[in-house]
Amino acid sequence: MTDTLTAFAQGKLDQLSAASLLRTIKPTHRMDGVVVERDGRQFISFSCNDYLGLSHHPEVKAAAIRAIETYGAGAGASRLVTGDHPLFAELEARLAALKGAEAACIFGSGYLANVGLIPTFAGPNDLVVVDELAHACIWTGAKLSGAQIVSFRHNDVADLAAKLAEHRAGAPKALVATDGVFSMDGDIAPLGEISRVCQAYDAWLMVDDAHGLGVVGDGSGTAKLFPEARVDLQMGTLSKAIGGYGAYVCATRPVIDFIKTRTRTVIYTTGLPPANAAAALAALDVIAREPERVSAPIARARRLTTALNLPPAESAVVPIVLGEADLALAAARDLEAKGLLAVAIRPPTVPAGTARLRLAFSSEHTEAHVDQLIEAVRPWLNR
Ligand SMILES: *Cc1c(COP(=O)(O)O)cnc(C)c1O
Repeated sequence: MTDTLTAFAQGKLDQLSAASLLRTIKPTHRMDGVVVERDGRQFISFSCNDYLGLSHHPEVKAAAIRAIETYGAGAGASRLVTGDHPLFAELEARLAALKGAEAACIFGSGYLANVGLIPTFAGPNDLVVVDELAHACIWTGAKLSGAQIVSFRHNDVADLAAKLAEHRAGAPKALVATDGVFSMDGDIAPLGEISRVCQAYDAWLMVDDAHGLGVVGDGSGTAKLFPEARVDLQMGTLSKAIGGYGAYVCATRPVIDFIKTRTRTVIYTTGLPPANAAAALAALDVIAREPERVSAPIARARRLTTALNLPPAESAVVPIVLGEADLALAAARDLEAKGLLAVAIRPPTVPAGTARLRLAFSSEHTEAHVDQLIEAVRPWLNR
């Protein structure tokens, strides 16, 4: 006899499967930045956020190994309990300098950062205004805050202003949160105008630049593209172009000191493994030294958008929106048969009716890899 928990799970799985919405995780060996092995076959992957191939860079790996030899495999406890690791202070100073901020705080992951940060600055009587396509963990953080949550139309500054005009007055504090580069669409938030509206309504601006760092502009991320923008909380991750794991937020010194004494996902969680901090520092060295590596992912992405007559890529991410989930799955399977991995992104990760192939480009892709992808994607464009 099946217990009710197992029956519940099986019922949900059956429903999802029938709707082409079941997700499964496939055993995959990432051989380097772009080549992966699955079921004994090799593929060129366009499904990875390792935009600069730094997860496999010899200097980055060597730094991580040295840190393990020197400091051990784990941090031991929360930073507030074991004390502050020398590598953490070094990484925070480095990130703050890169972002033009006074200080930084690192986190275990981007998800932990957003889930912890929003409730630190907004509570039950406050207002949180979120771009409708912002990352899932921004929404989770907003919900956890207990604040009133209002969404604005994607990248629509007039709608943001209208929402603030309608809801700002009743709230002691207001926080506006958006991605800098949108993870599933690859487009960029108009941070200059968003910042202007935020200042007009005394709303704090938090930007999640997980996909900007190492890729956009000079590699320091999206905010630099808008020198007039004031971003109060510059959040980002070490898990995409940086090639490792972890996250950060940069802000003024008092804001960072407050986070370190109040944010639950800093206080009640173990510090980052020292190797992750060392790897991130080495990755930032490579980024600073090799501007041609930083500009490569967008150049590869534009090669495809130009060839396929799509709007020019703004980042390393290009969506091929196909509509229904089963169509996106069929396209992904077709590409796989041609030796290319491009994952089908389906609801609830993206809105219903906008299932897509999400193409992610790396400095490690050759032009021949991209040309192969172009020919594989072309037949799906006019379906
Ligand atoms: C990946 C991602 C996160 C989560 O970061 P992790 O370090 O993977 O937890 C947060 N925000 C955005 C926009 C992301 O793309």
